[in-house]
Amino acid sequence: MPALGPRDVEVRIEAGGICGSDLHYYQDGGFGTVRLREPMILGHEIAGTVARVGAEVTSVKAGQRVAVNPSRPCGACRYCQEGKQQHCLNMLFYGSAMRFPHVQGGFREVLVCDEAQAVAVPAAMSAAQAAFAEPFAVCLHAVNRAGPLLGKRVLVTGAGPIGALTVIAARRAGAVEIVATDIADATLKVAKRIGADAAVNVSEKDALNRYEADKGYFDVMFEASGNEKALAGAFASVRPTGVVVQIGIAGHGMNLPMNVVVAKEIELRGTFRFHEEFALAVDLINKRRVDVRPLLSDTFALEDAVAAFELASDRRRSMKVQFAFD
Ligand code: ZN
Repeated sequence: MPALGPRDVEVRIEAGGICGSDLHYYQDGGFGTVRLREPMILGHEIAGTVARVGAEVTSVKAGQRVAVNPSRPCGACRYCQEGKQQHCLNMLFYGSAMRFPHVQGGFREVLVCDEAQAVAVPAAMSAAQAAFAEPFAVCLHAVNRAGPLLGKRVLVTGAGPIGALTVIAARRAGAVEIVATDIADATLKVAKRIGADAAVNVSEKDALNRYEADKGYFDVMFEASGNEKALAGAFASVRPTGVVVQIGIAGHGMNLPMNVVVAKEIELRGTFRFHEEFALAVDLINKRRVDVRPLLSDTFALEDAVAAFELASDRRRSMKVQFAFD
């Protein structure tokens, strides 16, 4: 346990969600050039209750439930100064092996964070819901990267937790029609439940054919699967000058149909983490403007971590898997 500094908050963690990047670490020891080089606690979708606060902390007090923002930019580097905190040169992001020594994560009983990272939620909101703030913030940032969605037709490939939360975020942003794709029927059923207009199983042959006439149908595509086939297979359904936002990360990179990008003047955009969207995510969940509850499929005790990670790895049997801490 680290000592409690004047601006620190000690949080007793109550809920933690398993993210796709946690699964990459668990299954492959990392992704792309990011590799585990020492033992690392996973987890960055976390919420709990404040146990103690430092002498100068004013925004939260003991007993208050908080969503913990796993992102801790330095505030001083050139990117922080430009308002691009997600690209901070000195970023400390829980459960990330991008730096060495790695930044230890949030799947633990007690965590000490900076006051700015502990965002208050009402006591009536469960820690399980509050732990959705982080993945929802990722999706709000992705929607911001896409530009205005009012009246736009949107395709979301990959309807796991991030894809589903992107459907919710795109709907809030004014998308007029949202189609979600996946290869798991159970997942597609959840996508429909949380608001997708159509859910297409792309393991069926020519599943997106109806959207490919006249050079495509969708104005914006969000690729949330990190699967090369999903990305390549969907390009034909994006209209000329459409925007493709890549959210998913692939374990070993992805090949792109670049000739289609050229010929249809497609704009390809990445999206990485979030900054101000975390507070917005908390607020939208707080005010019940969005309902994340249908996404929570399974809850495990920390002692059953291996079973939890195995289930979370099986996209046909699970959506969001969380830990509940005693
Ligand atoms: Zn910085």
